[in-house]
Amino acid sequence: MKRHHWLILSLILGAMAGVLCHPFADSSVAQLIIKNIFEPTGQIFLRLIFMIVVPMVFCGLCLGVYQLSEHHGLGQVVSRTLLYTVLASSASVFIGVSLTNLLKPGAGVTLSNELMSANEKVEKIASNADSAKPFAQALVEIIPSNPLSSAVKALDGEMLALMFFALMFGIALARIEHDGEKSLSLIKVLEQIYATCMKIVDYAMILAPFAVFALVFSSAFKFGHQILLSLSYYVAVVLGALFLQQFVIYSALLKAKGISPWQFFTQCREVYLYAFATASSNATLPRSLECAEHKLKLSPESSRFVLTIGSTANQNGTALFEGITVLFLAQVYQVDLTLGQQIQVVLMSILAGIGTAGVPGGSLPLIMILLKQVGIPPEGIGIILGVDRFLDMCRTTINVSGDLVIAALVDQKKPNTTPL
Ligand code: ASP
Repeated sequence: MKRHHWLILSLILGAMAGVLCHPFADSSVAQLIIKNIFEPTGQIFLRLIFMIVVPMVFCGLCLGVYQLSEHHGLGQVVSRTLLYTVLASSASVFIGVSLTNLLKPGAGVTLSNELMSANEKVEKIASNADSAKPFAQALVEIIPSNPLSSAVKALDGEMLALMFFALMFGIALARIEHDGEKSLSLIKVLEQIYATCMKIVDYAMILAPFAVFALVFSSAFKFGHQILLSLSYYVAVVLGALFLQQFVIYSALLKAKGISPWQFFTQCREVYLYAFATASSNATLPRSLECAEHKLKLSPESSRFVLTIGSTANQNGTALFEGITVLFLAQVYQVDLTLGQQIQVVLMSILAGIGTAGVPGGSLPLIMILLKQVGIPPEGIGIILGVDRFLDMCRTTINVSGDLVIAALVDQKKPNTTPL
């Protein structure tokens, strides 16, 4: 059995066992088992991932913007790629966040009384309100006065400042190289640190089936069967939002350039299938390149640039998914996010789309950071892990589709949309 099959099995078993045991949620023996067996199992998995988040986010974002700003020779292509990347990512996060606020997939879940007393609720809202800063102050604090201190406190709310530093660092690094000073060796080091972090995520994923069982069991045990209904609703909201991104946003962008969206999507259908099956933008890159050059007949120079960068730095489906997941879990845990915090989620989701590796599950560490940043228990990730593989396949398809759309928009010629 493949890893994602194990995860689905763990999700089903954990959910069933948790729902069956829910009537005993208030018994002290059950609480003791949860505290001493299930919670530590989930925590070990989560901490293994947290462990690599700071170096991974720094290196990933740095390399992403470095690659985007590196190709000065391509002038127009670079600036247009950047513009469309930010535009498409912002639109996708906006769709995700609006749909989740409108449909509230996590709102039906109520915590069992003993687990979440009225007092606790008041405390939670109060502490959340306390952490909300005035807008101008929050904006200023995006620029860290000491990036090392922001890295240390990244998991306690300073991740955005670290991301800003990584962005500046990546841009400056590309500039230095362009001005003739050597920085290539540093790029290699950053690439190796990044690859090492991803390897550690791989190790952590060995524990994932146990962690998913433990985390889902604990959630279903606390929340009862409502959590499963909410989870299905959440999956439907993610799929609906991805659908809108593909058929409204991408279609509108293509139409604006006089390209027929339907014919364009038809030409790309094989690439979509490949992205769906592999759940990896990076693994799909060779097929996207081939489709852009041979089917869409885009100019190789610009399409190679846009697609290669895009497979790592343009992940609209992922950005959308991250926004929805954070808001969904905020609803499940009844954390009232202020407007400032929602804006923070939007900004970080857009940046996370740039810093996410184009591999299966690449966005999971970043979601955990987003959760921590706005005061949602990161173990909430266990609730969505079991359905993550399926959603990953869907969001990767939109990620890759976005890369091809941007490649067509950036290209000077109109793509060929008549079937070969
Ligand atoms: N699997 C996605 C991709 O490769 C990344 C993610 O969202 O986890 O595009």
